[in-house]
Amino acid sequence: MINIPRIDSKRVVIVGCGFGGLTLGRKLKNSGFQVVIIDKHNYHQFPPLFYQVASAGLEATSVLFPLRKVFQKYKDYHIRKAEVKGVDTLNNQLLTSAGVVDYDYLILAHGATNSFFGSVQMQKHSKAMKTISEVIDLRNNLLMNFENALVAKDESEKDMLLTIVIIGGGPSGVEIAGALAEMNKYVLPKDYPELKNTRAKIYLVEAADRLLNMMSGKSSEKAREFLEKSGVKVLTLTKATGCDDRTVFIEPGKNIKTGMIIWTAGIKGNVIKGIKSESYSRNGRLIVDRYNKIQGYDNIYALGDIAFMAGEKYPKGHPQVAQVAIQQARTLSKNLVRLSTSTPRKEFRYRDLGTMATIGKNLAVVELPFISFQGIFAWFVWMFVHLMSIVGVKNKLVIFLNWAWKYFTYDQSTRLILRPKGYS
Ligand SMILES: Cc1cc2nc3c(=O)[nH]c(=O)nc-3n(C[C@H](O)[C@H](O)[C@H](O)COP(=O)(O)OP(=O)(O)OC[C@H]3O[C@@H](n4cnc5c(N)ncnc54)[C@H](O)[C@@H]3O)c2cc1C
Repeated sequence: MINIPRIDSKRVVIVGCGFGGLTLGRKLKNSGFQVVIIDKHNYHQFPPLFYQVASAGLEATSVLFPLRKVFQKYKDYHIRKAEVKGVDTLNNQLLTSAGVVDYDYLILAHGATNSFFGSVQMQKHSKAMKTISEVIDLRNNLLMNFENALVAKDESEKDMLLTIVIIGGGPSGVEIAGALAEMNKYVLPKDYPELKNTRAKIYLVEAADRLLNMMSGKSSEKAREFLEKSGVKVLTLTKATGCDDRTVFIEPGKNIKTGMIIWTAGIKGNVIKGIKSESYSRNGRLIVDRYNKIQGYDNIYALGDIAFMAGEKYPKGHPQVAQVAIQQARTLSKNLVRLSTSTPRKEFRYRDLGTMATIGKNLAVVELPFISFQGIFAWFVWMFVHLMSIVGVKNKLVIFLNWAWKYFTYDQSTRLILRPKGYS
């Protein structure tokens, strides 16, 4: 049993301190609950800027924030860095790598993980961007490939090392493609003059007929136009069927030799043992009602990426984006307080604030509820929104300085290959 003293108030245990868990934890301040936060990391992550860390544009530390710092001044909050292994729903106990924690209310906000649609080869050979450790691994491999290209034994090996295939044309795929195209244009010639006129080849592979499927046709077209102008080869209606360590299989005869496959094509819920299989939807998401309560349980809730709440407007569940997690956490915090005061609860309603993606310097597409725009103004809006959303004043400042520096110098400052002991 994890040693956290039981007090008079009811205990809310929150699993995962991403966008949903962090917001819920903050909103429950002074609510009268004892709050226990369990996360396998001791930091909160900001995935919307992961692609900039992957492409050596930002330090990893500027998109992370220590959990203990967020909750330093909160009374009766307890944080444990532990991985949740399962839940004993009969005894209201959460089973973690650090021991057992009992709960009155359990909130599952542990997000989603990569789905490789069953391809073991893709899981083994591609680099994903779901966690910061994956992102750092991607960056190290990318920079290592440039280094290895200088000492390649022949042109075909050099070509292979300098070919990057990104699978998935959603916002993450589009954003990393744009960032790598910029790196290709501005950084490679300066850092690797010996590569002479050889540049990296960047492919963006998407099975659907257009990029950014969740946005309008106009935004999709603009994104494609911006990417193609920056030199990215966009392949829509193209399915990657598998890979080995040096090839992505596209269609018979159209395979691409590559030293770097970046996977942004799919996610699925992180399954936790002990929750009935009937409570899971097809994609590993937990089926919840309009109050985020998991089907089949009285005191277990799920929110954010892991929750599947079907509604008239969202028959396939809400989009797995930060705003859904944040808004669900806000509503749930109020409903938990309402429950404890026997006040009627309110159903969750999602307010769509818009969608945006950036493709590179001065290039972005933005769709707000009443207006859509593209280009330089969209890019400034994108930067402002992301800067405001990041946790921590220091992080905001560091990112702003990095962006300003890059804007005027066309340079990124973090092209370092940093690996733990044991790796060369
Ligand atoms: C590369 C990338 C770019 C993105 N860009 C955008 C964007 O631009 N805009 C946008 O709105 N959304 C974006 N998203 C999606 C957005 O990040 C998610 O929708 C959001 O993070 C979901 O919040 P959450 O709280 O449900 O889960 P998460 O933020 O994923 O948090 C889950 C937390 O649970 C913890 N955890 C997981 N499993 C366990 C376990 N077993 N035990 C203990 N702790 C656990 C994790 O450490 C993490 O802290 C992006 C996602 C990625 C991967």
